[in-house]
Amino acid sequence: MRGGAEPGSGSVPPGTTPSAAPTLGELYDLLLSAYGPQHWWPGDGPFEVLVGAVLTQNTAWRNVERALEGLRIAGALNPEAIVAARPDRLAAWIRSAGTHNVKAARLQGLCRWFLESGGFAALARSPLPQLRQALLSIKGVGPETADDILLYAFGRPVFVIDAYTRRILGRLGLARGDEGYEALRGAMESGLPAEPGLFGEYHALLVAHAKAVCRPRPLCGACCLRPRCPAGAAPGEGCGASAKAPRRRRKTPPE
Ligand code: SF4
Repeated sequence: MRGGAEPGSGSVPPGTTPSAAPTLGELYDLLLSAYGPQHWWPGDGPFEVLVGAVLTQNTAWRNVERALEGLRIAGALNPEAIVAARPDRLAAWIRSAGTHNVKAARLQGLCRWFLESGGFAALARSPLPQLRQALLSIKGVGPETADDILLYAFGRPVFVIDAYTRRILGRLGLARGDEGYEALRGAMESGLPAEPGLFGEYHALLVAHAKAVCRPRPLCGACCLRPRCPAGAAPGEGCGASAKAPRRRRKTPPE
């Protein structure tokens, strides 16, 4: 990857072998080579990204797909219908996504803001800091949800941080793993070319890797990063062997 960044020299935990850790650029190349393009975000257009970013909080994407289908069948997969819907009806349409009453209220708040702000055409003209702040001011929209929307719906160069990112970077010695959200986001954004396409692909690849092998109990023996990973525990057998065709979308960890 052109413009790949060197990891911060002070970020490697004691007792590891920092010279083995890949740079951010090398890590991207290794993951892309192993898993291929992930084609995120799935769905029909940016409005589905908005809705999906809320629905995917704390649940698997397969549940989000069912909730989106529920909205589609009800003719309510648009901001006007979501705002106008009776809360209990909206909650029933998205029941499969879990915590449906909470998510219904969040969806209505997000869609109300979306409409009052003039929709995509108007919001697309907003400077990134203002747009991000506006999203964060909506009840139930935390940094990860806001950044999902900014990156995948608005094509803005923000790096989405989630538990998978922390886990992998921490194990590789590229981060401590316990940094605050903004600190880790800033480190990723300053260490990579500010390209939304790259950020979107990188985030998706980290999720694919975390699901395939870098799990809470990692399958290091099947990981191609193992020779470069201070936390690797066993000889590699080829990265992503069982994950060439990952799920379309993931669970988003709690914010
Ligand atoms: S070697 Fe193990 S800990 Fe390191 S990235 Fe691979 S699966 Fe994760």
